[in-house]
Formats: sequence, C-alpha cells, structure tokens
Amino acid sequence: MHDPDVPAARRRIAYVLPVYNEEENIAVFHAALVEATTQRPDLDFEFVYVDDGSRDASLERLVELRAEDPRVTVVQFSRNFGHQLAVTAGLDLFADGGADAVVVMDTDLQDPPRVSLEMIQRWEEGVEVVYAQRRTRKDTPFKRATAWGFYWALDRLASIQIPRNVGDFRLMDAKVVAEVSRYREHDRFLRGIVAHVGFRQEALLFDRDERFAGETGYPLKKMLSFAASGILGFSTTPLKMISRLGYAISLLSVLLAVYVLFVRLFRPDESVPGWAFLGVGMFMLSGIQLVMMGVIGSYLGRVYVESQDRPLYTLAMIARDQSAAGTGPRRHRDMGALDPGAES
Ligand code: UDP
Ligand code: MG
Repeated sequence: MHDPDVPAARRRIAYVLPVYNEEENIAVFHAALVEATTQRPDLDFEFVYVDDGSRDASLERLVELRAEDPRVTVVQFSRNFGHQLAVTAGLDLFADGGADAVVVMDTDLQDPPRVSLEMIQRWEEGVEVVYAQRRTRKDTPFKRATAWGFYWALDRLASIQIPRNVGDFRLMDAKVVAEVSRYREHDRFLRGIVAHVGFRQEALLFDRDERFAGETGYPLKKMLSFAASGILGFSTTPLKMISRLGYAISLLSVLLAVYVLFVRLFRPDESVPGWAFLGVGMFMLSGIQLVMMGVIGSYLGRVYVESQDRPLYTLAMIARDQSAAGTGPRRHRDMGALDPGAES
C-alpha cells in the first residue's frame, strides 16, 4: 500500500464511536482507547463520538472529553436514530476522504481497543476491510441461540455471504468508506452493506468482553427488527417462496381431484359429500394466502419507506477541530464522484 522509499505524509485513522446512554463507560473507554493508540505515535488519530440521542449525561461527558483532547469530535443526533444510523453518520464524515482508514467500534468496552491496533496492522499489510469475528461470546444462552438461528437463516436466504459472529467492529479503508456511504437505504444492515461492497476483506478473531457498565441498547424487539433488516435487505427468497408454495399446492389439488374422480368412478358407495375436505381446504388456503400476503407486504413496506426518501438523520450540532473540518456529512448521494476503477 505505501512505498517505503517515499517519506509518506502521516496517515490518519478515524474512530467512529456510537454512544447511547454510556455515561459510565465513556471516560473509561476513551482512556483505554488513548492508551492503545499511543502505541502508534506515527499515526494521526481522530475520535468521532456520535451521541445517538442519549438520555443520560453522555453528551456532557463527551464535551468534557473534547475539552481535554482536541482529537475528539462530537456529533450529536437530535434524537435516538439507532446504532446503525449513528455509525452511518460517523462514516459520512469521511465519505470524501479525511481519513486513510476508519475503525467502527462500540463504546461499552465490549470491543477491546487494543484489537483495533491489530486491525491497523492488517490494513497496513493491504487488507481493505478487517472485521472482528468473535471467537467466544460472553452472552446469555438465549442470545447465543437466537444469534445462531439468525445466522442460519441469513446463510440460506441472503444473496451474498455475510460472515458469522461478526458485529460492526471493523476497520475500513477510505475507499470502502466512500462506497458504503453511497448506500442510502433507510433500513440499514451495515455489515451486509460492507460485505456487499467487496474489496479485500479478512476476519480477525477476538474475544468479546462483557459490557463494562449500563445496559444493552439492543433489547429483543430491536434485535428482531434488525434481523429482519438483514434478511429482507439482502434477500428476495421469501418472495420466491410464494410461487414455490403456489406450485406445491396446485400439484396437491390436482392429486386430490384425481383421487376424488377415482372414488366417484370406481367406489361410488364410498363417495362422501366432502364437507371435511372443503372446510379444511378453505381454511388452509386462506391461511397460506394471508401469510404470503404478509411477505409481499413486508417488501412493499420497504419500497414505501425508500420511496419517501427522507433524510436519514438530523444533526443538532457538530463540535469538531478546525484542522479536521472541511468535510461534512453528505446531503445527497454523489454517484459521479467515484473513480471508474471502483465500479460496484
Ligand atoms: N448504540 C447506539 N444507539 C442505540 C443503541 C446502541 O448508538 O440505539 C450504541 C451503544 O452505545 C454501543 C453500541 O451501539 O456503543 C452497541 O450497543 P449495545 O452495547 O447496546 O449492543 P450489544 O453490544 O448489546 O449488542
Ligand atoms: Mg454492547
């Protein structure tokens, strides 16, 4: 990637750090991050904290951090838009360059800051996306089981390979960040988008720690809708299943007709009025129809949301060092600005 003969300009690494009700974690997290990054004095760092409408004192903590460390950038959302959009807002700051690589990580110390240094090393070796893959999970058996089920379904349904046991903890090269920023879907499943973008992607195994303090911002309800985003966003298989089921049922009704005809012709004494068949069949068919209409409806719902094309988020404020300024969040997609080598 870099030529050792040329004394290259100092390379710049940005951290995108979503924050939602992390008042007890921020100071500890930042200290750990600073400690880890001091091992690389040859690199410039920027720490972009995106406050996703926290209801506690997280924003005050962040402003305090910024007063002490000018490398800290604070972005505040006008309300809670969710983790995926918080990360997106951070990435958007670097859509037009501004950093040679961007690391996305959680601020609850579940993603250990030192692992990001290993990611930087791998990136320097030429890997364009280094994603952290959990070797172990310190989660409840319930969360483990649901996660397993989700990845099982995703593997079978999704049109692209989305790696297992991978969260949003990853390093992305500047060009990957630029590409990811071109995906403007509202129902965002970032790890799927990154997988979709391509480039050289490699896993880095790590042990995920437990949340340091506070509680998860991903209760079951959010997890389920997130899983649905992953599947509906990258798969049209449920739609195809409608026609498959339709064929199967048609075949069944043909067989049934043959059977009825057989009884009528050869065993006329056994021929019954057939109320059971009619009743059961009617209920079964209308039930299946409803389920299938639900599948269509969920895609239709996505079309609806996309066609509304609302802004993804509304910023209340950006507090940022002058030297880091100059690139702002994108207002609209800019298809023309890409180099032709990076066709999608
Ligand atoms: N988070 C966020 N917005 C939300 C929920 C979470 O920005 O609506 C942040 C949170 O502060 C943390 C990261 O996203 O840095 C991961 O969230 P969490 O730890 O709650 O998820 P879990 O690790 O339990 O999956
Ligand atoms: Mg967490």
